[in-house]
Amino acid sequence: MSIMKLLYFPNKKLRKKARSIKKIDDNIKLLVNNMLKTMYFYNGIGLAATQIGINKKIIVIDITIKRNNPLILINPKIIVIDKSKISNKEGCLSIPIKQQYFILRYKKIKIKAKNLMNENIELEAKYLLSYCIQHEIDHLNGILFIDYLSNLKYQRIYDKIKKLNKKIIFIKKHNHIK
Ligand code: ZN
Repeated sequence: MSIMKLLYFPNKKLRKKARSIKKIDDNIKLLVNNMLKTMYFYNGIGLAATQIGINKKIIVIDITIKRNNPLILINPKIIVIDKSKISNKEGCLSIPIKQQYFILRYKKIKIKAKNLMNENIELEAKYLLSYCIQHEIDHLNGILFIDYLSNLKYQRIYDKIKKLNKKIIFIKKHNHIK
């Protein structure tokens, strides 16, 4: 298993739409294992394949404190939405700034997906698990949580990350690191 390189906003690959997986073979299983390792390494509660530049509908999630109970969803789809929404603070591994932002999400959803054994599963998710699944499914559709913010806030985040990138390039130049 290996830790994969994360893509960061505003990388255009984060805007690509993921494709459905037709066959869950050994390559997919390896990819899922790498995604899990990457999610745990970066201490995220969820990761979509899009975030490591892979155009496939896979998400992994683990909201447990012990970090030992991952949920693996292949071709996930929301099938029922309870219309009530709730505002919750979110961050994202692809947006490397410390601040979190309030995002409005559905409190309760029902999804269908396949698991790694190629079985069809249905799942009801509430609160954090629900927000997390919505956030990750958004990734598969090329949507980032900051898209829900005002233009002003979005622009501020964009500028901050541009500045951060310039700093990193500067440091790399001075240390002769490729
Ligand atoms: Zn994210």
